Amino acid sequence: MSEAPEGALPSLLAHGFVMRLILVGPPGTGKGTQAKLLSERQGLTHIGTGDILREAIRLGTPLGKRARPYVDSGQLVPDDLVNDLIAERFQRADRPHRFVMDGYPRTRSQADIFDRVLEQQGITLCAVVLLATPDEEIIRRLTGRWSCPKCKATYHLLSKPPKNDKLCDTCQSELFQRVDDQEATVRERMRLYHATTGGMVEHYRQKGLLQEAPGQGDIETIFARIVEILKQADSSC
Ligand code: AMP
Repeated sequence: MSEAPEGALPSLLAHGFVMRLILVGPPGTGKGTQAKLLSERQGLTHIGTGDILREAIRLGTPLGKRARPYVDSGQLVPDDLVNDLIAERFQRADRPHRFVMDGYPRTRSQADIFDRVLEQQGITLCAVVLLATPDEEIIRRLTGRWSCPKCKATYHLLSKPPKNDKLCDTCQSELFQRVDDQEATVRERMRLYHATTGGMVEHYRQKGLLQEAPGQGDIETIFARIVEILKQADSSC
């Protein structure tokens, strides 16, 4: 989790810029990148459960040990684990006042718990921004990544294709595709995403908080769309 300095805040914050939001989007949509930019440029605390869990696994903490089998196999970790993690973060005296949630809540039941945690602390959520990208576009992006087994160079068939079909430009070795970039795996991650997040997205739509931003385009274009949406969202929040 990256903590932004609360002092020198960019000008948008002085103009009713929404400060407490959830960023939602399918895998491969650049959600983490956008949350990081919102943290760096708009002074929001970035709370990314995937990052927190990966760090806990790296450090071998009790949380990391429990989460590891789930994270390694691409399944969701049990609700109580992430719910406790987030509740603890918002119950601390140094709880964030401006934040962007990345990866949590992910299901309807997590959203219910998160609502309660925020309510207990008197914190209002300002917006839920859904980065909407067609499945086929995501599949093209995620399955386009190929690597060289020998010199470890990476390529992307769309944005950085090798000069010769599936051969490394540097050492001419045959490129390979990681298991998690293969189409069957990517489709399974998309299926899981839709099956788990649908109820959560609907919950926030009914609360009038959901805003959609097209997830196609380069990083800066998507960032500008998100900022525009947030500027127009409830300025009293
Ligand atoms: P991410 O980086 O957001 O794709 O998350 C990586 C992994 O962390 C996921 O595949 C899950 O195993 C786990 N994870 C992250 N956030 C959650 C969550 N809100 N609920 C359950 N599992 C999560």
